[in-house]
Amino acid sequence: MKTVLCCNDAARPHVLVIPFPAQGHMIPLLDLTHNLITSNPTLTITILTTPKNKPLVSTLLSSHPSIQTLILPFPSHPSLPPGIENAKDMPLSIRPIMLSLSNLHQPLTNWFRSHPSPPRFIISDMFCGWTQPLASELGIQRLVFSPSGAFAYSTMCFLWKETPKRENEQDQNEVVSFHRLPDSPEYPWWQVSPLFRSYLEGDLDSEKLRDWFLGNIASWGLVLNSFAELEKPYFEFLRKELGHDRVWAVGPLLPEDAKEERGGSSSVSVNDVVSWLDEKEDLKVVYVCFGSMAILSKDQTEAIQTALAKSGVHFIWSTKEAVNGNQETDRNERGLVIRGWAPQVVILRHRAVGAFLTHCGWNSVMESVVAGVPMLAWPMTADQYTDATLLVDELKVAKKVCEGENTVPDSDVLSRVLAESVSGNGAEVRRALQLKTAALDAVREGGSSDRDLRCLMERLRFPLQ
Ligand code: UDP
Repeated sequence: MKTVLCCNDAARPHVLVIPFPAQGHMIPLLDLTHNLITSNPTLTITILTTPKNKPLVSTLLSSHPSIQTLILPFPSHPSLPPGIENAKDMPLSIRPIMLSLSNLHQPLTNWFRSHPSPPRFIISDMFCGWTQPLASELGIQRLVFSPSGAFAYSTMCFLWKETPKRENEQDQNEVVSFHRLPDSPEYPWWQVSPLFRSYLEGDLDSEKLRDWFLGNIASWGLVLNSFAELEKPYFEFLRKELGHDRVWAVGPLLPEDAKEERGGSSSVSVNDVVSWLDEKEDLKVVYVCFGSMAILSKDQTEAIQTALAKSGVHFIWSTKEAVNGNQETDRNERGLVIRGWAPQVVILRHRAVGAFLTHCGWNSVMESVVAGVPMLAWPMTADQYTDATLLVDELKVAKKVCEGENTVPDSDVLSRVLAESVSGNGAEVRRALQLKTAALDAVREGGSSDRDLRCLMERLRFPLQ
């Protein structure tokens, strides 16, 4: 039965924020939450989290007393060992985490119904599609948050709406044509969204995935961590698909000051990293990092290590793997290997960093764009292939160096590209600076993302102060 609650909290509107527990999803949604509360301190915000993810939310809570957390026990799932609550802690855990979190439907309903001033709105991650039926049951509206860009989100809408069929299920190179998207991009099957591929492979839970993604499409609106000038044709596509007044581009979502604790505890002292960089010339250091989840094979790790050594470049390498058997941070005059969590935003914004070898995770892309750093693209999975197309073919701010999560790059070729990337001659350097200006203009007062955020708040009837 549908319950429509009468809100008598107009003076202090209440929003429930539901992040998906993966660093690349939580970080930008918490940044958006920070922007919402600083722009409108009259809001009350509740963030739903589970015990092990609470520390990630804590920095935000300490700076904004009107943000509260709702901590619910993480529901168990047969594919998740006890204690796993975040995708960074186990490869291939995205799908089971999605399924497991959907069991929070009833506890959340109970919380909502007993709350003296329940939320009027849910803002939840695109991987929390189960919140769409929840919101309609509770009689409130739901806004989807996409940590992916507009191009990537357009391909997802296309896949889940059209469910393109396959001619030959054995052929991983069979081409999928996204024919309704601008310029009709095509990708081989193995580069298509792993969640969609798992849906077509089918099991009892597959229909749930489809319902949730279609629920995203049917939601009240979509907010993306991107900006109009970066992905214009794809925003136009999304607005045509979802409704002209239902899509908001509010990125780049970034902290004003790069915080060392953003998304994880740095495994090195930020001051040490900065002093190491301070000794280097402008734009001469290559930063290497493949996000919060990728685990490289021994061969891939060795290929990168050989390429870095041959190239002669200065580098910082944030790695989850042991390099040369070494489990600790390793430094010398030419390179700094950080095992664990690196203060990525601090590094990218340092004047010494001239190139970023990246898996093209969307947060890394946005952070690099804001820092004006050109990229070397090695997309490995999920939306990283479309991100790489955008960066390499359309924006021309990156060079492709490798693709695929199991591919081992040729270390000679990679070493040449690394050396060229900091030689200062690339057209990518000029493009990166133009994009940096566009990104900063978008979030400035009156810029496209600032206007979209204001417009969104007006529509939510939470006007900015
Ligand atoms: N990150 C970081 N230090 C690391 C690894 C990752 O700060 O050592 C941050 C990075 O700045 C970005 C996020 O983690 O904000 C990773 O998100 P992205 O979308 O790039 O990739 P994902 O981890 O989702 O694959």
